[in-house]
Amino acid sequence: MKQIYLDHASTTPVRPEVVEAMLPYFTEQFGNPSSIYPLGQEAADVVAAARETLAGLIGAAPREVYFTSGGTEADNWAIKGFARANAGKGKHLITSAIEHHAVLHTCEALEKEGFEVTYLPVDEHGLVRPEDFAAAIRPDTILASIMFANNEIGTIEPIAALAAIAHEHGVVFHTDAVQAFGHEPIDVKEMGIDMLSASSHKIYGPKGVGLLYIRKGVKVENFIDGGQQERGRRGSTENVPGIVGFARAAELAAADMTAEHDRLLALRDHAIRRILDEIPSAKLNGSWESRLANNVNFSFEFIEGEGMLLQLAARGVCVSSGSACTSGSLDPSHVLLAIGLPHEIAHGSLRMTLGRDTTREDVDFAVDSLKATLANLRMMSPLYEDFQHGKVASVIERLKADGFPYAN
Ligand SMILES: *Cc1c(COP(=O)(O)O)cnc(C)c1O
Repeated sequence: MKQIYLDHASTTPVRPEVVEAMLPYFTEQFGNPSSIYPLGQEAADVVAAARETLAGLIGAAPREVYFTSGGTEADNWAIKGFARANAGKGKHLITSAIEHHAVLHTCEALEKEGFEVTYLPVDEHGLVRPEDFAAAIRPDTILASIMFANNEIGTIEPIAALAAIAHEHGVVFHTDAVQAFGHEPIDVKEMGIDMLSASSHKIYGPKGVGLLYIRKGVKVENFIDGGQQERGRRGSTENVPGIVGFARAAELAAADMTAEHDRLLALRDHAIRRILDEIPSAKLNGSWESRLANNVNFSFEFIEGEGMLLQLAARGVCVSSGSACTSGSLDPSHVLLAIGLPHEIAHGSLRMTLGRDTTREDVDFAVDSLKATLANLRMMSPLYEDFQHGKVASVIERLKADGFPYAN
């Protein structure tokens, strides 16, 4: 059976050009960048070239870019490393309620060390309100970490505005840009970003490699004690093939970023319009305007999410209920609860994230499958029958009356 993969926010396939660029570094060019003979120095040179490429793509200097094992490590390093190095100035951090667990659980770990963390609420679109952010800043606030774009609902946060507020108060600004890097234009200097996390496997590069940008002058503890790799701040022999692949993937993403963005945006809006037009009791989650070009996230009333995902999988449609980390657990997504969705409908949620090889036919097939699946599930739902007979009220109707947009 044909598989239609619509879960690109979880991970992406490695592009053939990227595999090709990586291959020599597993075999003939296997040298250790710390070795002084040519085989080693050649490896050091490609790592340096990759650092330069990636730094250039975000407007940073190569010395400000550190390779990590992925987005999670970059988030851990940025937040723990900064907090511990600057605890003498204050022990208060600010983040948002809708961060990835790589940030949320890191902040929770710091709370156990005696730091205080404010988890900012978001509006119904998933946007952090700049006025809430400004109001949360205290004299002892040292760091803010607000994601560039959300992995579940695709909301793009007003990063430059938030960073400007942080700087007015002497607060350092980190952003988890894993979902945005390679998809949205980013310039750390222009946007006032002091630290930024990115990951390779969300942009058609290999898994297990990412980067942390640390602006020159920002004091952060070293992350891994060991050798002199990453300027002595993160020991361990460099993942040379991974780093080469990450840089190649980023370069390819940058080369057609605008064209691919616009193509995905048209497909995304086609999917959203079809679902709103053709499926009753459905609600788009997140913002429509400030949204990643590949993200579709809906809640459906009178639906149990697990059953929906399984039936779609049986039809060859690979989608998720939110983040890969929360699927398989019965708790509703913290992101959907934070945008104000009641538990009943947060449970019946679906995320489709489109990618480079997604066609209009794929999107139509997925929406057709979704329609059939929902009709099937609702036919078996006593609650839906009661609703059709006017015996129970619809939560989505109530939300619409409360001013929630994009619901049917
Ligand atoms: C995927 C993801 C991460 C984790 O990145 P890894 O490279 O898988 O560790 C962190 N933050 C966000 C927003 C993500 O989407």
